[in-house]
Amino acid sequence: MPTVNVRDEELKFEDVVEKYPQIPRLLILKIDVQRRGVYYTQNVLDKIDPDVYQLIGSNVFFASLGARDPKTKSVPESLILRDGTIIITDPTPLDQNPYIVDYRDGKFVLLDRNEIVEEVDFWEKPDYYGKLTSSGTPMDSIVFARPQRLNITPTSYCYFWKNGNGCKYCDLVPHLKEDGVIKKKLTPQDAYETVREAIKQKGRFTNICMTMGSDFNGETPFDSEVDYYIEILQAIGENFKGRRFPSQVITTALNEKQLRRLYDETGLSSYTSDIEVLNEELFKWICPGKEEWVGYREWKRRLVAAVDIFGRGNVNSGIVGGVELAKPRGFKTEEDGLKHTLEEAEDLMSKGVSIVYIVWVPRPMSFFRNQKNASLEYYVKLTIGLNDLREKYKLRIDFDDYRRCGNHPNSDLLRIF
Ligand code: SF4
Repeated sequence: MPTVNVRDEELKFEDVVEKYPQIPRLLILKIDVQRRGVYYTQNVLDKIDPDVYQLIGSNVFFASLGARDPKTKSVPESLILRDGTIIITDPTPLDQNPYIVDYRDGKFVLLDRNEIVEEVDFWEKPDYYGKLTSSGTPMDSIVFARPQRLNITPTSYCYFWKNGNGCKYCDLVPHLKEDGVIKKKLTPQDAYETVREAIKQKGRFTNICMTMGSDFNGETPFDSEVDYYIEILQAIGENFKGRRFPSQVITTALNEKQLRRLYDETGLSSYTSDIEVLNEELFKWICPGKEEWVGYREWKRRLVAAVDIFGRGNVNSGIVGGVELAKPRGFKTEEDGLKHTLEEAEDLMSKGVSIVYIVWVPRPMSFFRNQKNASLEYYVKLTIGLNDLREKYKLRIDFDDYRRCGNHPNSDLLRIF
């Protein structure tokens, strides 16, 4: 059977669990499920009640990025394990050796080679899903829920694709073009009303995260992006009494003047700008749009400048874990990739910028479509290495942790360390 994710020489899930007893088994399982994806049996799909569970949805501005299996629709948004660990993953064709989600003896379960590995459940549908704003827009089509966070993507397009300089692991624009949703833009009023409705649900949401593709337009590059974030954040902020509200934006790396505007003109409480890969040469190759408009060293410098404005513990940067091994220019061995990534991560963390990673998924519509992500052991070592650095520099990542985001295995460790 052809596989892209399973390599016989690698340690398997149970071997990795045994080798790293300091890391919870369910966290290692999460990472492996993210690496390999999932396949939902018809038996499961027949049992999913759409009135109870959140299904992959109808977000008109973003949706999720393209699934590894684009043919699969109406499946659960994602998974949750019995300790509350969130797994953000997507449907994957059977020939890529995903975990199987099945229904057996009255329970939803994760299977590997037809053996039950773990019980699993799905995210509950929030109360605001199915409701409309005063303009008639379905609220769940503009604000997407994670178990404890509201995700807002006010517009879909990333301008780095205009001259073909999108990031090489990213399929956002090709995916959106296929879905025909590229021109839609969220209005401040719809954003205000949807957040107002969502936070009526007691005990559910603890943070609001907003992100969109990069927009280099404006007098100074990215002024347009900043203006739009400010407009939407101000509208959302009308729902809160305090000066600041629990919130995060993930923007292009902005200059000090733009950062200052974001902080002073809105109630935003934390700031993220994803550097994606922690190596200057690989950044130039993998993220050519980011290189063209900002550059690696300037990206790092701006992240550090953001700490002075938003405060220590309120700034971080995301990387696509494993993409540093992409062929042909990536690190040739996992050992090298890990060493260099952690060295660069330490440089930023020592200056107050936390680093979180997501598991790289070589998506079918991205430039890296036929590549393999890293071994499970590599991701476990990356999780440990980044968490050790976070402890060394005494950084908090509360705004982007297992509860609020749930997509960063290293911030899952905040629960226990
Ligand atoms: S900045 Fe890179 S990762 Fe983000 S949307 Fe644009 S191309 Fe994709």
